[in-house]
Amino acid sequence: MLSERERERYKRQVMLFGEDGQEQLKKAEIFIAGAGGLGSPIAIYLAVAGVGTITIADMDVVDQSNLNRQILHYDRDIGKKKTVSAEEKLTALNPDITIRAIDCRIDETNAADLVGNADGIVDAMDNYPTRYLLNDTALAKKIPLFHGAIRGFYGQATTIIPGTTPCLKCIFPNAPPKEVFPVVGVTAGVIGTVQATEVLKYLLKSGDLLTNRLFIWDGLLARGEEIYAERISCCPACGGLNPETTPGGKKK
Ligand SMILES: [Zn+2]
Repeated sequence: MLSERERERYKRQVMLFGEDGQEQLKKAEIFIAGAGGLGSPIAIYLAVAGVGTITIADMDVVDQSNLNRQILHYDRDIGKKKTVSAEEKLTALNPDITIRAIDCRIDETNAADLVGNADGIVDAMDNYPTRYLLNDTALAKKIPLFHGAIRGFYGQATTIIPGTTPCLKCIFPNAPPKEVFPVVGVTAGVIGTVQATEVLKYLLKSGDLLTNRLFIWDGLLARGEEIYAERISCCPACGGLNPETTPGGKKK
């Protein structure tokens, strides 16, 4: 049940999806991998929308060079753990939700535990090895993965439903070379907001998810495009998964 305060807080979106929808969001738990450029807008928008439990994992400390895009962190936070800074801002934005900020590097030994029983995993990472690990974790647990990546003015996003849609390895069999890439904060804003929208749609069971297609954003041309993606039957990550065994994976 929503409190009076929550009814008032979420009034303008309850107009869209009703109190039932808002309660669905309140019951939900989302895992965000990364409290950086993408993680910031994703966490902010999921927090203000009223997603009941947000777990956010990051191992870094706020650096001055993060501040052009990582809008959860302020100048005064330089030197602070990103998880501490993130928890402080998100709790101040919405004290009615639970924020679990976990200071750690996501690796093979802890990924499954960190994700726990979350309803969705959000890829807000800046490297493909961790993205592939999140993909494997999502497939093993049959939890949707909301992918996003940015570089400069370009960004991409897709939603992966294990066993039904192509997984990250189907779409990107090989990781691009590791680099310190250029990036502008607005691109993180565009792509992070697309990912957060996908999470809300998934939880509310509304609209058409960004599945079986990769959304590509070119900020310089102000143009969005879609690339259709198919499952690869011999994919080393998802080749054996069957849609019938995946919750939410069946097509209507
Ligand atoms: Zn695959």
